[in-house]
Amino acid sequence: MADALFEKVAFIGIGLIGSSMARRMMADGLVSEIVACARSEETRSKALELSIASQAFEDPAVAVEHADLVVIATPIGSYGAIAQAIAPALKPGAIVTDVGSVKQAVVDAVTPHLGEQNPFVPGHPIAGTEDSGPESGFPELFDGRWTILTPTDETDTDAVEKVKALWQAMGAMADTMTPSHHDMVLAITSHLPHLIAYTIVGTATDLEDDLRQEVVKYSASGFRDFTRIAASDPVMWRDIFLNNRDATLETLQRFSEDLTALQRAIRRGEGDALEDLFARTRKIRRGIIDAKQAD
Ligand code: NAP
Repeated sequence: MADALFEKVAFIGIGLIGSSMARRMMADGLVSEIVACARSEETRSKALELSIASQAFEDPAVAVEHADLVVIATPIGSYGAIAQAIAPALKPGAIVTDVGSVKQAVVDAVTPHLGEQNPFVPGHPIAGTEDSGPESGFPELFDGRWTILTPTDETDTDAVEKVKALWQAMGAMADTMTPSHHDMVLAITSHLPHLIAYTIVGTATDLEDDLRQEVVKYSASGFRDFTRIAASDPVMWRDIFLNNRDATLETLQRFSEDLTALQRAIRRGEGDALEDLFARTRKIRRGIIDAKQAD
């Protein structure tokens, strides 16, 4: 058992990511006490039933009382209101962190509400599944995965080091970068692939009935992998696209140009161009496997 890094931790949102963190913190003795906040009675009862938290509250301001660390783990669109609600109730010196998939918009939404005594350390674990809710979490989720912290020039460096140490203790590798750089990188690696998956599966659902049934029946040939991604939480992904608009649109523009080039190569029968691209993309996959970031 490691020494506790924090005494009391309050999770605002206790779904896939929050409950995975809570499970790992408890299992490894990284914190002494965990409380949670969620809007619905169902989520709060589930968190207590699963022993992920010792107490669960509806009001975020009550949940953060006496906490040394507050983790915001809700869909990004709710961050501003949550930061505003918890700010007056935070213990002096308490660190606020988060797990949101977009970082610049999160910094802009949270920082103005917090006083100087409460540093905000924005974070994003690059780990997850398409499932949601407290029952979907598991303590090994972050093992060998990266967590990106995006402090600004004003962020207290001791607070960043403490949050970094916590992620490393939960099995993750930690890196830091600016919020806007994070958003550009994630637009390519995560947001664009989700947008493509939502489009492909959306196209299939618009097909005539008999064709759609065959798509489901023969889904093993590629389509199935897209449906897994396209099954991700609708509210969470709505908020990601609305809050990472510029980087997503920029990436989408590049993608459209590359798609047009591919379309032309197929029309003109340019087999060498197709083979060359597919050989390069295969190398990327091998690189991901070598870096132990493939499932
Ligand atoms: P989730 O499983 O849907 O859990 C969200 C939790 O937040 C639930 O406990 C929900 O309970 C609660 N909640 C929602 N709105 C709230 C509000 N206004 N006040 C208090 N609690 C609220 O979501 P998740 O997958 O853990 O995602 C949480 C965050 O992690 C998101 O910002 C997402 O961008 C980020 N993230 C997700 C993944 C992933 O793969 N899923 C990966 C990395 C980062 P109630 O509905 O009962 O309120």
